[in-house]
Amino acid sequence: MKILVINCGSSSLKYQVLDMNGEILLAKGLVERIGMDGSVITHEKIGMDKVRNETPMESHKEAIQLVLDAIIDPEHGVVKDMSEIGAVGHRVVHAGEKYASSVLIDDDVIQALEECVELAPLHNPPNLLGIAACQELMPNTPMVGVFDTAFHQTMPPESYIYAIPYEYYQKHKIRRYGFHGTSHKYVSQRAADIMNCNLDDLKIITCHLGNGASVSAIKRGVCIDTSMGFTPLEGLVMGTRCGDIDPAIVTYIREKEHLDQGVANEILNTKSGVLGISGVSSDFRDLEEAAEEGNERAQLAIKVFAHKVRFYIGAYIAEMNGVDAIVFTAGVGENDIAMRDIICNDLGNLGIKLDLVKNKTRGKEAIISRDDSRVKIILIPTDEELMIARDTLEIVKGLNK
Ligand code: ADP
Repeated sequence: MKILVINCGSSSLKYQVLDMNGEILLAKGLVERIGMDGSVITHEKIGMDKVRNETPMESHKEAIQLVLDAIIDPEHGVVKDMSEIGAVGHRVVHAGEKYASSVLIDDDVIQALEECVELAPLHNPPNLLGIAACQELMPNTPMVGVFDTAFHQTMPPESYIYAIPYEYYQKHKIRRYGFHGTSHKYVSQRAADIMNCNLDDLKIITCHLGNGASVSAIKRGVCIDTSMGFTPLEGLVMGTRCGDIDPAIVTYIREKEHLDQGVANEILNTKSGVLGISGVSSDFRDLEEAAEEGNERAQLAIKVFAHKVRFYIGAYIAEMNGVDAIVFTAGVGENDIAMRDIICNDLGNLGIKLDLVKNKTRGKEAIISRDDSRVKIILIPTDEELMIARDTLEIVKGLNK
C-alpha cells in the first residue's frame, strides 16, 4: 500500500509518499509560505532532481491540491492516480488525554482535536486544516491521526501531575503531556532492532536533541517519563526555549522589564535557550564556531545545554533503576560529535562509556559506545514520517479485516 504522510504547519507543509511494501520512500516535498506572497512547492521524486514551482496558494486546500498534482505528475509523480494512495497519515501535535495511540479520523476525532486547540493553539489549528483539506480532496481515502503526545500517555500520574492545586488539572487539564512522541517511539523501536533485543526487555533513554529537544525514559517499550510538559517549553535547554526555570522568574522579569504576558511568553519561547545565553545563535554549528574562537558565552551555552541533558539522563536511570541504551537523535543528537562527547563524558561509573572514534559518526545509525560499555550508546536518525506511515498502515489494515 502507498501512503501519503502530511505534516501541516501554519504556513508550511511537509509531505512524503511511501510504498509500505518494503517501506520505500517514493517522493517527498515541502510547501512554504501558504497564504503569503512567494508561496512555493518543492517536490522531489526520489532519484530525480527537485522541482520548484512558485505559485500562489491562498489556503491549505490549494496547497494540498498542489501536493496531489505533484504526486500524480506524469514525469515527477509516483502514482498514476490518487486511488493508488491507500491512506493518509496526518501528524497532529496535541491529542490531550484523549488518545494514547494513533486513530482513524472521523467526526468524533475531529471534535476531540478541536477541543485540544486551547492546549496547542499554534499547532492543532493548521493540523486540522490539513485534515479538512485532504478530506475534501480525497473523500474516499481513510485518514489517520498520529499524535505527538500519544506515546507519552503511558506516563504514570507521579510523572505527569504538577504540584499545583489539583483542581487545575481537573478543570483546565493542566498536566505534563510531553511531545516528540513519534520520534521517541521510532528510535526506541530501532534501538531494540539494532541491539537485536526485545523492546520488552530494555530500559532506554532517548535524547531527541534538535532545535526543540526532549528526553524520554522508556521501560519495556512504554514511556514512563519525558522532559517536555504542559507545553514544549519545559525540560531541556533548547535552541530558543528556556526549558526548566523557576516559575517565579516569570513574574519577576515581567515586573522588572514591564512586560505584558504575551511578550514574556515570547521571550521564553523564542529568545531564550542557547540563543539567550550566548547571544550568538540557536544553531549549534554557529555556537561551536564561536566557542572555538573564544566566545565565553557560547562556551557557557554549550555547557548549560549538556548539563541539562546529563541531569535528565541521571534522573531517568534512577527512575528506571538502570538503563540498557542511550539513544541520540535529531539535528544535534545525530550530528554534533562534540556535544555527544560532553554529554557522555565521565559516566563510566554508570556503565556508560563513549567510544571517541566511533563517535565521529554523523547522520547514520551506529553504536558509538565502547565494547566494554555496559550501556549501549546508539546514534539513530529519527524518521517520524516512517513511523506515521507504519501506524497508518496498521490502522487501515485493521479496517479491511
Ligand atoms: P527541528 O526539527 O526541531 O527544527 P532538527 O532536528 O532539524 O530541529 O535540528 C536542527 C538543529 O540541529 C540545528 O539548529 C543545529 O543546531 C543542529 N545541527 C544540525 N547539523 C549540525 C551539525 N553538523 N553540528 C551541530 N549541530 C547541528
